[in-house]
Amino acid sequence: MKAITFAGFRDVEFETVEDPRIEAPTDAIVEVAVAGICGSDLHPYHEREEGLDFGTVMGHEFVGRVAEVGADVTRVKVGDVVYCPFTTNCGECHYCSVGLTSRCTRGQLFGWVGMGEGLHGGQADGVRVPLADTTLARVGDNLTHEQALMLGDVAATGYFCAEQADIKPDGIYAVIGCGPVGIMAVRAARHLGAEMVYAIDSVSERLEMAGRAGAVPINYESEDPVLALHEAADGRGADGVMEAVGSFGSARSAIELVRPGGVVSVVGVHTETEFAFSPAEAYDKNLTYKVGRCPARAYMQRLAPFVESGDLVVDDVISHRVPLADGADAYRLFDEKRDNCTKVVLKP
Ligand code: NAD
Ligand code: ZN
Repeated sequence: MKAITFAGFRDVEFETVEDPRIEAPTDAIVEVAVAGICGSDLHPYHEREEGLDFGTVMGHEFVGRVAEVGADVTRVKVGDVVYCPFTTNCGECHYCSVGLTSRCTRGQLFGWVGMGEGLHGGQADGVRVPLADTTLARVGDNLTHEQALMLGDVAATGYFCAEQADIKPDGIYAVIGCGPVGIMAVRAARHLGAEMVYAIDSVSERLEMAGRAGAVPINYESEDPVLALHEAADGRGADGVMEAVGSFGSARSAIELVRPGGVVSVVGVHTETEFAFSPAEAYDKNLTYKVGRCPARAYMQRLAPFVESGDLVVDDVISHRVPLADGADAYRLFDEKRDNCTKVVLKP
């Protein structure tokens, strides 16, 4: 089959790889209809995240049709159109049962193979899905492929980020980073009742998108977000800050923006080894800091009805739809934010 594979620093390739096959009786093979390129794919692409084997099939966002199931798969059927969180889930362990599905004891991240161990991703004609019965879910008749694709990662992550920020209608909130995840955090905060959400980035079309999603955009290159937020909040700062970037700079902004007693909710993937703020700063702010991987399996089906009813728009951040064969160019486009690129969907 054809796939987009990791080839080193800022390099992915469209190449022929081995077809995925059933390796355990709980596996399924999904024929991919649509696959997303995520901001998370850019971390190994830039080698900020290290250890990804060359030749790994990239991507953890996909929707498709079940082509084959192992002998022990009972809920998922051949022919089902399914969506998938970005990690596998056993559905049985402590973490799955309390809804922290992203820390499933048998969880594996799609598109991550290191030292020969791990799971290939979904930017391909097909993908092997372990623990298929508890990882996959059927896409309902009223969801499009693209909406389901967004629910498996970006929309779930934005919503998780907003829920962690403890949204109240009269609070003042800031979202740092207006990529697809940040835009979804804005949408989620609004959906949870927030009336004042500021959205911070430096890319004008992304700021415009945040504006359409119901936020007040702040371009940090021309306006100081800390000043703006303090002004809006009687000098206090934001009640909650949602950080959807994952850099030292964005983490530093978060601590400067939050008010004493406020919450910093982080979904940006961090690869630094030191915090951007000191224990003393955290103490002096009575800080609540929440961070980590979104339990997408627990969110995607819960959010689906909001998407079906039109209350939560998730797919308008998709700016480019391209054949899988053009995946390498699409990575460059997304990475360099050229041609107003906000999110790419690859079509095998
Ligand atoms: P993206 O790269 O498209 O968007 C990041 C945005 O942040 C860009 O628009 C960029 O201009 C902006 N930015 C960069 N530095 C900034 C700064 N200092 N202040 C304000 N804005 C800044 O990525 P995305 O797909 O939206 O993903 C965002 C982050 O979320 C990534 O780190 C990704 O890995 C992470 N992520 C985490 C989870 C999770 O489960 N926690 C899931 C999905 C994605
Ligand atoms: Zn993703």
